[in-house]
Amino acid sequence: MAKYKMITPPTNGTPITIVDKKLKVPDNPIIPVIEGDGIGSDIMKACRRVVDAAIEKTYNGRKQIVWFDIYAGDAALKMYGEVLPRDTFKAIKEFIVALKGPLTTPVGGGYRSLNVTLRQALNLYACVRPVRYFQGVPSPVKHPEKLNVVIFRENTEDVYAGIEWPKGTKEVKKVIDFLNKRMKTKIRADSGIGIKPISVTGTQRLVSKAIRYALDNGRRSVTLVHKGNIMKYTEGAFRDWGYKIAAKRFPDETISEAEIWDKYNGKCPDGKVIIKDRIADSMFQQILTRSDEYDIIATPNLNGDYLSDACAAQVGGLGMAPGGNIGDYVGLFEATHGTAPKYAGKDMVNPSSLILSAVMMLNYLGWKEAGLAIEKAIEKTILQKTVTYDLERLMEGATKVSTSQYATHIIENL
Ligand code: NAP
Repeated sequence: MAKYKMITPPTNGTPITIVDKKLKVPDNPIIPVIEGDGIGSDIMKACRRVVDAAIEKTYNGRKQIVWFDIYAGDAALKMYGEVLPRDTFKAIKEFIVALKGPLTTPVGGGYRSLNVTLRQALNLYACVRPVRYFQGVPSPVKHPEKLNVVIFRENTEDVYAGIEWPKGTKEVKKVIDFLNKRMKTKIRADSGIGIKPISVTGTQRLVSKAIRYALDNGRRSVTLVHKGNIMKYTEGAFRDWGYKIAAKRFPDETISEAEIWDKYNGKCPDGKVIIKDRIADSMFQQILTRSDEYDIIATPNLNGDYLSDACAAQVGGLGMAPGGNIGDYVGLFEATHGTAPKYAGKDMVNPSSLILSAVMMLNYLGWKEAGLAIEKAIEKTILQKTVTYDLERLMEGATKVSTSQYATHIIENL
């Protein structure tokens, strides 16, 4: 076991290991958990209660998660004097699967996003966000049930790589001088500069993961979403490298949309996953107007960030949208919303996003029955119209309950 400075792993659990390139999950895995800032404490408490109850009910005590509290953000600052201590990285690496609440990121100055740092340092290259409709959730569109996508957002590159220099610094001056003098560009001297790297490696491991997921879960298509008409050598290359890896690694299981029209008169041969691509701006209207034509989506970092929130809005908002950051093995599951500071400690907000992220985590562990039980119980609770403020204000005849009461209703409905 790794040595920790200020935390001690529980002794009543067993670490998850990797055997033959697969996770080996014991019946009592140690799962590190970061409570998070702001509303983190409210939603994490609710989430752990629901998850523990679902596992107990589903497996009659044969399985159990042994939670291991680790720290980031405000709590880490108090304890360690820094927002992201080494102990936290070590624990996630050692125990492989972890759950986290939201963390504050200062806008403009201050420290870099802890979320981005965690994703990059642990090489969690795919941000996976399933977005589907839960019956009864109020939605701004007529047919929210038509949307059922899983977004694979590249998590380590693009303008999120953190390579940027503020206006007026000697670093930015160097970069601007180099570009203007050597590369014959015309960048204004009073510019800030950010770099957008997109690599074959980053693209192909993400697109491969998305295709693997489509195949394992019986999904119909993988759509590469890019802005390649403008950013040809980054986003355009993402599309080309995506098609290439599909043809190279999955030649029998996939078929491109172009090939379907060229060879099969527009009708996809049975059993093949269609690989298609869409330009990002067009995709934003397509996903609204032709939601059911899309299934798995693979896209660079920034597009993925925008698109996943837009999709979440379509099925009732961020309060219902889960997410996971996944690398080759390590998985860090988290709600897609932030710390909502004005509601912190008020036992008010909707914990569904975090609970559904824990469902993704259970699926990742192979404990699908417990995950399914939670999804059904959430749906039932919403249909009974006992919901938190965010849904209550949009539903007629609903009863507003607190975060903790909502969790109790879900547990009763398991
Ligand atoms: P936010 O925390 O997501 O909150 C924005 C609004 O979304 C809230 O005011 C609330 O809307 C609604 N909301 C969010 N979570 C909710 C929940 N569980 N239940 C019900 N409603 C919910 O976004 P933000 O205010 O822009 O960001 C606050 C901080 O969080 C920032 O420091 C940001 O960087 C950070 N952040 C962290 C993560 C992460 O850790 N992964 C992700 C995003 C943002 P109403 O007021 O309309 O009810």
